[in-house]
Amino acid sequence: MNDKIETETVDLTAGLAKIRSRRWLMWLVIFSYVPGLLISLEMQASSSIMGWLFALWVLLLCIVIGLATVVCCPRCKKPFHTNGPTFLPVRKCVHCGLHLKADKIKK
Ligand SMILES: [Zn+2]
Repeated sequence: MNDKIETETVDLTAGLAKIRSRRWLMWLVIFSYVPGLLISLEMQASSSIMGWLFALWVLLLCIVIGLATVVCCPRCKKPFHTNGPTFLPVRKCVHCGLHLKADKIKK
């Protein structure tokens, strides 16, 4: 009985850590746009290089949002951020309501 509860806690911790890391990656790519743009402008990159950098950023954005979309909730095993076609990067599972930091809340 105790082993089962401990295993579930470990599963929740690992699953939630994976979700948190994917969310961090997503926000990092999203918020890297403006600093990246300012650095490119400061370096006086040509418009073709700016176009390639923008395309690279869009590609990275698609990848990290895709990763955040498919990550599953460790409790209900459904996509954590996705309900049907809607992607909601909220801090609770959109299906069972498991909080992103449920493993860190003291009991
Ligand atoms: Zn869930």
